[in-house]
Amino acid sequence: MDQIWVDMYNAAKAVLGGKRISDYVTAGEVSAAVRSKSGKIYVGVCIDTCSTLGICAERNAIFNMITNGEYEIDRVFCIPPNDGKGAPCGACRELMVQLMPGRYKDIDIMIDYSKGLVMKLGELTPEWWID
Ligand SMILES: [Zn+2]
Repeated sequence: MDQIWVDMYNAAKAVLGGKRISDYVTAGEVSAAVRSKSGKIYVGVCIDTCSTLGICAERNAIFNMITNGEYEIDRVFCIPPNDGKGAPCGACRELMVQLMPGRYKDIDIMIDYSKGLVMKLGELTPEWWID
């Protein structure tokens, strides 16, 4: 596994940790790191609320990247609960597709860190409504 994935794991791990913020909001049970094309790593945590106001860790990390003036994703890494494996949900995939039409298929997604299993977003989203 290359050092970039290790750096992304460490960045995501640094912000991981479930917290109850109020009676209605928890955060940090999942964390993510997104690497932009410039090579910078942006992190985000999931935020869970009542009434579906929350956000996935991946989208939070992507929004962090956008907030900082970058719009091209190179890689996505997520630490799901219990260090398990997992792929981005449909909403996160949709955001990446809409953010990078014509280019999203080359985004590398870490599926299982313990096995070093990486897939392209194009493999995870075949026949999407946007090419
Ligand atoms: Zn998601």
